[in-house]
Amino acid sequence: MYQNSSKKRVIIVSNRLPVNVSRIEGSIKIKQSVGGLTTGVGALFKSMKNSIWIGWPGISSEKAGAAEADIVSELAKSKYKPVFLKKISIDNFYYGFCNRTIWPLFHYFARYTEYSERQFESFRRVNELFAEAVFSIADKNDVIWIHDYHLMLLPSLIRKKWPEASIGFFLHIPFPAYEIFRLLPQRREILKGILGADLIGFHTYDYVNHFLDSVRRILGLENRLGQLLVENRLIKIDSYPMGIDYDLFNNTAKKPVVKKEAGKIKKRLEGCKIILSIDRLDYTKGIPERLRCYELFMERYPEYREKVILIMIVVPSRVQLKYYQLMKSDIEKYVGKINGKYGTLKWVPIHYLYRSIPFNMLVALYNIADVALVTPLRDGMNLVAKEYIASKTDDTGVLICSETAGVSKEAGESLIVNPNDINDVADAIKNAFVMSEKDKKNAIDVMKRRLKRFDIYRWGSEFMNDLSEIKRYQSHMRAKQMTDLVKTQLIKRYSSSDTALLLLDYDGTLVQLKEKPDQASPDDELMTLLKDLISLKGNTVVVVSGRDRNTLEKWFGALNIQMIAEHGAFIKNDGIWEKDPRLDNSWKKEVLPLLEQYVDRTTGSFIEEKEFSLAWHYRMTDVKLGNIRARELKGALFNLAGNLGISAISGNKVVEIKYNFVNKGNASFRFIEKKRWDFIMAAGDDVTDEDLFSVLPDDSCSIKIGYDATKAVYRIGSYEGFRDFLKEMVESRKLQM
Ligand code: UDP
Repeated sequence: MYQNSSKKRVIIVSNRLPVNVSRIEGSIKIKQSVGGLTTGVGALFKSMKNSIWIGWPGISSEKAGAAEADIVSELAKSKYKPVFLKKISIDNFYYGFCNRTIWPLFHYFARYTEYSERQFESFRRVNELFAEAVFSIADKNDVIWIHDYHLMLLPSLIRKKWPEASIGFFLHIPFPAYEIFRLLPQRREILKGILGADLIGFHTYDYVNHFLDSVRRILGLENRLGQLLVENRLIKIDSYPMGIDYDLFNNTAKKPVVKKEAGKIKKRLEGCKIILSIDRLDYTKGIPERLRCYELFMERYPEYREKVILIMIVVPSRVQLKYYQLMKSDIEKYVGKINGKYGTLKWVPIHYLYRSIPFNMLVALYNIADVALVTPLRDGMNLVAKEYIASKTDDTGVLICSETAGVSKEAGESLIVNPNDINDVADAIKNAFVMSEKDKKNAIDVMKRRLKRFDIYRWGSEFMNDLSEIKRYQSHMRAKQMTDLVKTQLIKRYSSSDTALLLLDYDGTLVQLKEKPDQASPDDELMTLLKDLISLKGNTVVVVSGRDRNTLEKWFGALNIQMIAEHGAFIKNDGIWEKDPRLDNSWKKEVLPLLEQYVDRTTGSFIEEKEFSLAWHYRMTDVKLGNIRARELKGALFNLAGNLGISAISGNKVVEIKYNFVNKGNASFRFIEKKRWDFIMAAGDDVTDEDLFSVLPDDSCSIKIGYDATKAVYRIGSYEGFRDFLKEMVESRKLQM
């Protein structure tokens, strides 16, 4: 059963409600709608207490007319909250941007994809309408779970109004590879919209990777093990392959009425093996392609004629779209052609049904079919394949499954085919018939157990539990976040101190990180701030940097400031530069050729040679490649490093090589031990600053800039926030003087 550890109310939001409302001769008709999302989330919804489902009821405002209020109260009985859409929105949003742009593009049908600014406008407006519906019915403490591609802007619309809200987003269709996704003119807005969620789920790990890849390349955001930092909010992206209500299918298949129905169909088709194909009418499902495979099978293996029947059920879908009407008539022509070509007076090769079928009949068909032919050209998951397995009671049957359907990742025991390879599919049908009973049983049994374990309830629980987990983590991160109260207390301590030591990292702490180090020179605001800090009585300011001393001297030489350069190789103490006497450069000639090799192999990377250290920068390279090369380089340096007494440390898109004994902690200690300071503060954003944090006396104030793991006691999100904090320090101390 579904278990949600957070016990909060869940608001489900999807484009369609799981029911379809129509008005026939004035009276309201409510019918179950068809599709994977409806079946899956519908089952979950029934088991959730207190939840509400927000969605479009499938009828236009114009058609609902005066009956809107009655529809609202009728649906409220099932805890459904309808969002009514005007006909023009349905055309531009649903049949437009959703079904003519996103649906084809995300299923790799770039040639069917239309791009229309007007339709996107409508998409945006409808997402806003859904946001209003959420605000009208939910409150900030609810968990909001948004489903599917129609509502990709909704997470960030809710986030804007409720920054702390718990928002989950699940995409039920594939997320395409970057090269496809980038074709979308509104790619940035779509990504930003989704990133408003705290947890983003996909059916497969491939889709997760595609999404993260697009986020990195389009928005420049780097993930760490599937976690992203979006405007100081840590979010998680993961795969949750959607399950089915296993027990419902399995138990239904055992019901006497279903057994009776199954027996009747079997009897009617006696002597024939049954191949089953069930889909909504859609070009992604590869229905004409499947017919071609079946035709080839008939052609190539004539011994199966009159011994096999293909039951092809096509469920009407998106009937308003012209392309779908054309596809329907093409399929029907093709079915007619095959039946005409191979049929006999007592046998037709294909039984074709263009309609939705009752549940018991569906399960009966699953139960008796010898083969399920699930060969979509592209499918986010495909629940039909799972339902087929779950409805087996005697464990016979074979699933033939497309490698381009998400379900193939969980159905390794099925016959996996490339749906575009007609030879492959035709042969798979033949192989299914010659497979031994034992092999069939084994395969079905393993898949059944997997489906039983990871059913729709487990899917829902895992998603919800991960969402509360990430919310807990966010609040833990906020705990280190410097609050206004802490700020006030620290500033008070500082302004009442007689002697204060301020150890300040430069890049990423006082200035923003730039692509090239020389682009990050100090601006006027920073220079004024530093001058102000230095001018205050009792203040000692040390810039603790990995930069070379010439650069630091050029920028800050005129100020009465202390400096640590090259992570501690040089110290400027009371106006005089000192070098650690143990330093020499004998190791460089061993390391430079290796670094040069990495520059040649990694476009955009470069070497920065400092007096006593070397740095390999890869900020301007493809990030994925840069990270791989950085790991390789550290590995390659490992042996050399031990012998030479040097170490390689990873900074922000840089690998720094220097003597082991040189680090910001050791160098800073020279200043810390100078006297008994009333107040010590250290700030830094990088791993190299952790050395500095670890040498600080207990009552010091250490501040991490950014959100990585740290030893520091406090956290400030950005260099701008830190500058503001320094400005407040200056102002308060001025007042004390
Ligand atoms: N289905 C249905 N009525 C029918 C035939 C099928 O409700 O007459 C259901 C089927 O049980 C399955 C869903 O439609 O749960 C199809 O989901 P799938 O993931 O295979 O494809 P989607 O429609 O989501 O693309």
